[in-house]
Amino acid sequence: MTDYDVIVLGGGPGGYAAALYGASAGLRMALVEENKVGGTCLHRGCIPAKALLQAAEVYRTIDHAGSFGFRLPEGATAETDWPAVNARKSGIVKQLHGGLSGLLRRRKVTVIEGHGRLTADGAVEVAGQTASARAVIVCTGSAPRSIPGLDLDGDRVISSDEATNSAGASLPERIAVVGGGVIGSEFASVYTDLGTQTTLLEALPDGVLPIGPDRDVANVLAKALSRRGTKIHGGARVSPLERTNSGLLVSFETAKGAEKIEVDQVLVAIGRRPVTEDIGAEAAGVAVSDRGFIDVNPATMATSRENIYAIGDCVATPGLAHVAYAEAIVAIHTILGERAVPVDYDRVPWVVYTHPEVAWSGLTEAEARAAGRDIEVHKHMFAGNGRAMIIGDTDGMVKVVAEKGGPILGVHLVGPWASELLAETYLAVNWEALPSEVGAFIHPHPSLSEAIGETMITFTGRSLHG
Ligand code: NAD
Repeated sequence: MTDYDVIVLGGGPGGYAAALYGASAGLRMALVEENKVGGTCLHRGCIPAKALLQAAEVYRTIDHAGSFGFRLPEGATAETDWPAVNARKSGIVKQLHGGLSGLLRRRKVTVIEGHGRLTADGAVEVAGQTASARAVIVCTGSAPRSIPGLDLDGDRVISSDEATNSAGASLPERIAVVGGGVIGSEFASVYTDLGTQTTLLEALPDGVLPIGPDRDVANVLAKALSRRGTKIHGGARVSPLERTNSGLLVSFETAKGAEKIEVDQVLVAIGRRPVTEDIGAEAAGVAVSDRGFIDVNPATMATSRENIYAIGDCVATPGLAHVAYAEAIVAIHTILGERAVPVDYDRVPWVVYTHPEVAWSGLTEAEARAAGRDIEVHKHMFAGNGRAMIIGDTDGMVKVVAEKGGPILGVHLVGPWASELLAETYLAVNWEALPSEVGAFIHPHPSLSEAIGETMITFTGRSLHG
């Protein structure tokens, strides 16, 4: 008799989703976590970052109060009380952590505190005690990556771990963000809006979100950030940082020449690495790639070792909490002997919570053309959308890529509440709906979603306002 049906190693989104879903299916679940359940996403990632982005949204709203007809005293703007902004964020994290812990208790998941390692016989050892199970799911997550010359010190040279947990009395006056990917763009957006002089240094020629979204959509964000004051440098080669009496000297070279700037802090956002060392992978015979990711069969999430599965950021699939949730469900279905529906990695929903927000699912126009697809593309700007005007935020567009006369291949959004609007378009992409089918559904008026309906109708050769 084993101690549990399933032991889950790591309590981030992948791990707690596996524990909760398995328990809901009647499995005896244990969850091993060395820190706090919730993982990077809850404590150092998605949740605190989005709470800070929302604070920036409130700041912008106050800043634009005049355009809604509210008078502020002459020359007045909101003054950022950074500790209070952080306290609100921490309160949300604390509440969610309490909720998650309670949910695990109610589902009778045994939470084992400590560092877990796989053993040669496929069990899990924590602090000298060994527990056995019919199956083990490894979801040990990822950690910020750095490179020599940009060594993280947690104070002046920080990663998202510290950016989401800054206990300082105030924001830095000047910051350089190295890496214009998802984390770099989101923090550039926060810092810029809250008044920090922000310089974004990205190695690839497109300075903002160079990988992932459609260029048309990423360019709207790049322009919006520039307009608000972010200095964006694409194709930047950053030299090793130098410390000065008053901060850090950042030297970089772009096609335009060499530049040096002094800043108070550098945020390194050049990607994340899987955490798969010291988890007993070798002892258990679990194959790990050169890049440190655990090899899995994506149809089942099974590793090279029978009865051991891996999900989330420690496998080489998109590093997104919601992808980890979906992979947890695939692993549990497989363990239950049920047919698992594999994740369609080419069509997962992506959201970047910058201002304006960027969200997409499916192929970009460039990807569709590179794949030799015969496509039709239509765009609709938010500029003429009534709800966008009412909100006071008309910057953005809907872009739809479809097979000529066929299904939708990709939808790319930038603008107000793109994160929430994506839900409809994600379903359309994954259901392989025709644009005309989506266009035939009613979109409420006035709403931002009308821009989606209008774009879909355009594919029929007719239009309402488009
Ligand atoms: P990323 O891979 O999105 O972006 C890293 C960027 O850094 C790339 O554009 C890359 O070209 C650039 N880069 C690499 N080395 C560089 C160098 N030496 N100098 C300048 N630029 C350099 O990685 P990230 O932004 O660190 O995010 C890590 C992971 O976290 C992502 O995989 C993402 O899935 C996840 N994440 C997601 C969200 C979200 O979905 N909203 C938010 C935050 C993080």
